[in-house]
Amino acid sequence: MPVAVDLLDRIASTENLPSLPLVAMEVLKLTKDPDATVDDLAMAIQNDPALTSKVLKVVNSAMFGLSRQVGTIKHAVALLGMRTVKIMALSFSLVDTIRDTDVAFDMEAFWRRSLTTAVGARMLGSAAKSPMSDEAFVCGLLSGVGMMAAWRGAPEVYAPLLKRVAAGEHQAEVEINTLGFTYAQMSGRLLEAWGLPEPVCQAVGAANGETLDNLSGSTRQLADAVHAATTMASLFCGEIPPSELANARAYSIDLLKITPDAFDDTLKELHRHVQDTASMLSVPIGKTVNYAMLQVEAAQEMARLSMQTEVERATIAKQEENTRRENEKLAAEKQVMERKATTDALTGIANRAAFDQRVSDLIANRADSLTLIILDVDHFKKFNDTHGHQAGDAVLKEVAGVLQKACGDRAFAARYGGEEFVAISAGLSGPVTGQLAELIRKSIERHAVRFESKDLRVTSSFGLAIWDGAESAAAWVKRADAALYRAKAAGRNRVCSA
Ligand code: GH3
Ligand code: MG
Ligand code: MG
Repeated sequence: MPVAVDLLDRIASTENLPSLPLVAMEVLKLTKDPDATVDDLAMAIQNDPALTSKVLKVVNSAMFGLSRQVGTIKHAVALLGMRTVKIMALSFSLVDTIRDTDVAFDMEAFWRRSLTTAVGARMLGSAAKSPMSDEAFVCGLLSGVGMMAAWRGAPEVYAPLLKRVAAGEHQAEVEINTLGFTYAQMSGRLLEAWGLPEPVCQAVGAANGETLDNLSGSTRQLADAVHAATTMASLFCGEIPPSELANARAYSIDLLKITPDAFDDTLKELHRHVQDTASMLSVPIGKTVNYAMLQVEAAQEMARLSMQTEVERATIAKQEENTRRENEKLAAEKQVMERKATTDALTGIANRAAFDQRVSDLIANRADSLTLIILDVDHFKKFNDTHGHQAGDAVLKEVAGVLQKACGDRAFAARYGGEEFVAISAGLSGPVTGQLAELIRKSIERHAVRFESKDLRVTSSFGLAIWDGAESAAAWVKRADAALYRAKAAGRNRVCSA
């Protein structure tokens, strides 16, 4: 991405930050000089009384946990070594430079994050027995300078980006997506330009885990502490939600290869040391949270999230239940409609439409040995005239019942219309269907219909036709009808075959 590289070069130019203060240049020079003595370092630092006082304050702070009060830079060097004192002097003088830089973003938030990262990196580094825990402090402290440089060097890109971060987006992600590199990588480049030791530049560049895998040995150990501290600082500074605590904690413990107890004990002290360091370095950091508060918030957030999940789950379950019931209702309604469409209202057996459908299905499938029986109640007009229409209805219902019972599962029974019924069988031989028709005839004849304390009886006549294997339904029915007509003509109450 050449555009991004240009942008990175533009941002990582020292022009975007003021030049190094004199004392910082002195100390840097000593850092590179193998022959530099304690006196050289003490002189360089003591030229700046404010810086001297800061170094002594920090050395005497609880974070260092020295048993004796340290009164001079030489004494500090004797107890902590040249490297630690050099690196502190260098970083504190840079803090002043950064603090006095004119940028229009939330400086309290900036320092809160930088100091939390710095103190956290030092403490986690020493818990992990890193030989460079003082460098870890500097790395944390300076890891944000890239943001200031980006703000000054490319405000048209960086100002809108920070707005998105303020609105809740993840900083390193937004930076990678829009710039192609993170603020930590910018910081690493700037520190290189400033001439800081290489492990410091590399660990800063990997603060968000970007290039961690390219590092090894003590530099990797340093970078791990800085990365873990950066992650924890994001939590302490509210840049990532407290619900991430458990994951971030497990990740950091794994990365640093320390025990969970050592990790928790370290973080319990973080808040206090951050506040102390801020006051010693005179940088405003506003309100900070402690580990216990963060843990409570994390627990609350997790509870809230799991409750929300539970509520969502219950809502979905309820919706599913409603949908299921709705579908069941629709299916039941559909079944009723279908039943209505195929059932005769008076007798409750299949109706003409169902019969037509059955016949056309059987014909289409060329079913074996199809027989059609049509029956017609004899002299039914007269019956109605004699006993009344209601008695007639009662008879039709019972004839239907007798017919269906006689058919069983051997034939399909339906009301054809008026006082006419049909039965259709498949797979039965001619003689058997003849016997079936005779059984139906006798059953109807013998059956007494109780109506208004009278036993009423009817007979019926039958026409029977075997499908010829080719004719249409209409032709088939017509032949059965003709047989029925002959049964009527021959005296009724009998079966005639086509
Ligand atoms: P046949 O022996 O020749 O069949 O004489 P029939 O009187 O039975 O024949 P017709 O076709 O002259 O009369 C049929 C009668 O059936 C006339 C009609 O009122 C009666 N009917 C048709 N449907 C119903 C019904 O649903 N209920 C009642 N009670 N009577 C019906
Ligand atoms: Mg009739
Ligand atoms: Mg009739």
